[in-house]
Amino acid sequence: MALDSFIEWTDSTWNPVTGCTKISPGCKHCYAERMATRLVGMGQPRYRNGFEVTLQPDLVRLPLRWRRPRVIFVNSMSDLFHIERLRAVPAAVRFLSLEPLLAPISSLPVDGIDWVIVGGESGPGARPMAADWVRQIRNRCARDGVAFFFKQWGGTRKKQAGRLLDGRTWDEMPASVLRQPWEDDSRLISDDRGPMRTTDLATRPCSI
Ligand code: SF4
Repeated sequence: MALDSFIEWTDSTWNPVTGCTKISPGCKHCYAERMATRLVGMGQPRYRNGFEVTLQPDLVRLPLRWRRPRVIFVNSMSDLFHIERLRAVPAAVRFLSLEPLLAPISSLPVDGIDWVIVGGESGPGARPMAADWVRQIRNRCARDGVAFFFKQWGGTRKKQAGRLLDGRTWDEMPASVLRQPWEDDSRLISDDRGPMRTTDLATRPCSI
């Protein structure tokens, strides 16, 4: 169960960097930008620069204060890596969040990737996602042994649209994310504030 995030596949978010630069039509309805605008309106000092890329140095060590292991979504309010660079990052879990999926990706390269999350666009003006685009990615993941998680159909009424694909949910996660910390203590690091599982620092590009 999520500890302090409503996002289906994570426990917590951690944003040592906020803001991003729109680079493609896929960014048109960027939820992070929408959220940043809201936070600016609320006077949140971390968003004093709006949606411009802003470092938050005081948050870099935040996970070391979390006493319980958890799945951490790094940079939910920004975007860190391009897929080619992502492959070179020495993380235990590398994942792609293909959300919003706005077109088919017929040749998605998943080598070096552990987990793929797919979701449709949601909110005002949401653009549709075809089931076959999702199936194509799901089948690719199944073929290459990559965990596949289907987050949502999206749309303007995303709760009603739900998250079933071909009659079921797809909630796969890499084994190292599912494993409980007491099953493998060698994966724990600790400081005087308690343990943290380094492998829980999953890393992603926002969307491609
Ligand atoms: S890359 Fe992602 S976070 Fe950055 S503007 Fe586009 S949709 Fe938003």
